[in-house]
Amino acid sequence: MRYDVIVVGGSFAGLSAAMQLARAQRRVLLVDAGQPRNRFAEASHGFLGQDGSAPAHIRRLGLKQVGAYPTVDLAQDVAQSARRAGDGFRVTLAEGGEAESRRVVLATGVADDLPLPSMQARWGVSVLHCPYCHGYEVRDRPLAAIANHPMAAHQALLLPDWGPTTYFTQGWFEPSPEEAAQLAARGVAIERTPVVELLGEGPRTEALRLADGRVVPAEAVFTAPRTRMASPLAEQLGCAFEDGMTGPHIVVDPMKQTSVPGVFAAGDAAQPMHNATLASAAGVMAGVAAHRSLVLAEAA
Ligand SMILES: Cc1cc2nc3c(=O)[nH]c(=O)nc-3n(C[C@H](O)[C@H](O)[C@H](O)COP(=O)(O)OP(=O)(O)OC[C@H]3O[C@@H](n4cnc5c(N)ncnc54)[C@H](O)[C@@H]3O)c2cc1C
Repeated sequence: MRYDVIVVGGSFAGLSAAMQLARAQRRVLLVDAGQPRNRFAEASHGFLGQDGSAPAHIRRLGLKQVGAYPTVDLAQDVAQSARRAGDGFRVTLAEGGEAESRRVVLATGVADDLPLPSMQARWGVSVLHCPYCHGYEVRDRPLAAIANHPMAAHQALLLPDWGPTTYFTQGWFEPSPEEAAQLAARGVAIERTPVVELLGEGPRTEALRLADGRVVPAEAVFTAPRTRMASPLAEQLGCAFEDGMTGPHIVVDPMKQTSVPGVFAAGDAAQPMHNATLASAAGVMAGVAAHRSLVLAEAA
């Protein structure tokens, strides 16, 4: 059977795209490997109606609601490759053979490369990427901003609204004179000796060991991991990329159309700012735009 749309990725962006297409009664195959980026967090915050829910709970609910539409097939599988086939696309699944569709929505997210090995076991609990997502839960505790990209001083500038903050330049990301003045005005301490290890019983953090042997208290660490595509599909299909703050993302127009006609992309994989609500909103747009492009082709 040829689907109208194959949506790859069944989290905030992919489920939101599939929902719009399902409600337009289009044949949709939603393929998901079940590895959303926020799976390390105990709770997800800021998503309206689901503030504080476990990420797995939100995803399960979304899958249940989207899967209830009769024109949707759900596949718990990995889409290994995708290529153009005639006027549509052919997607190869790790376990489920091949599937064909007229359009593809890529909602495959990104994967994180953390700057220090001791961060991995703490990721999503006491090592955090975003104060809006998790700052409230660690408020009033000693906070560290560990620089990993040129905008790191900006994140440090935000943090005093949640707790007393030290900005660790790691020897690489010295604030400009203007940034240093802003940090001083916000009461942020600046430490230039690199952090080499996080201490405390993971996933909690109690302190940081610096390269000169000093140990300084910190109960939550904010950092921006380098991000990379969680899947090679966009590259295989020939989509254009551009560099964002933390890594590459797929180039899309306002309708979430990529540089490859018929391929739409949404969510973290296709935008520089990473947040569940933004991913979901982009997924809605991708679903609507994929539907619109089918309609326009049928009306031509
Ligand atoms: C630790 C952590 C905590 C976070 N907490 C919050 C928070 O509290 N609030 C908030 O707003 N944001 C939070 N975020 C950001 C939020 O998780 C992301 O913005 C959001 O998950 C992006 O949604 P997405 O659908 O684009 O990608 P993802 O949620 O990452 O989902 C991508 C899906 O695609 C699947 N996939 C990838 N490749 C393939 C393939 N080839 N075949 C099949 N399936 C595939 C994956 O398995 C995954 O299920 C957090 C991020 C992290 C890292």
